[in-house]
Amino acid sequence: MKNRFLCPSCRSDLKIKNSVIFSAQTENGIRGLVLFSPELGNYSILHVPSFTYNAGDHIDFFCPVCHASLGIPEVNRDLAEIIMIDEKQVEYKIIFSEIAGKQCTVKIKENTIVESFGDDAGEFSNFWGVGPTY
Ligand SMILES: [Zn+2]
Repeated sequence: MKNRFLCPSCRSDLKIKNSVIFSAQTENGIRGLVLFSPELGNYSILHVPSFTYNAGDHIDFFCPVCHASLGIPEVNRDLAEIIMIDEKQVEYKIIFSEIAGKQCTVKIKENTIVESFGDDAGEFSNFWGVGPTY
């Protein structure tokens, strides 16, 4: 998978080797870097042990380059968004949950859900019905 993942604000590459890197802050104000798998639907997360949180906590994600928030509160306060560019140079929005342990990710092109991932992905229909309206 040679997909690229970009910050929506500064369009810096957020993927290095096999990790997508975000800056993050927990509900309790703990800050740290978190590494996600670039494989959509793989929810393994790497971080240092002192970056602690509980399942169900809201975690804010930021671009580690420009520090812009990746959250999209205009759609939902618990969702965040980045850009993915696939091997064919097609650009998608990747929207994912900011709730620890919640597994839902959707791939969006031209305001339509192309693919969804994760056990909790069905919850996206609560936000968008047949498709996103923003
Ligand atoms: Zn950025």
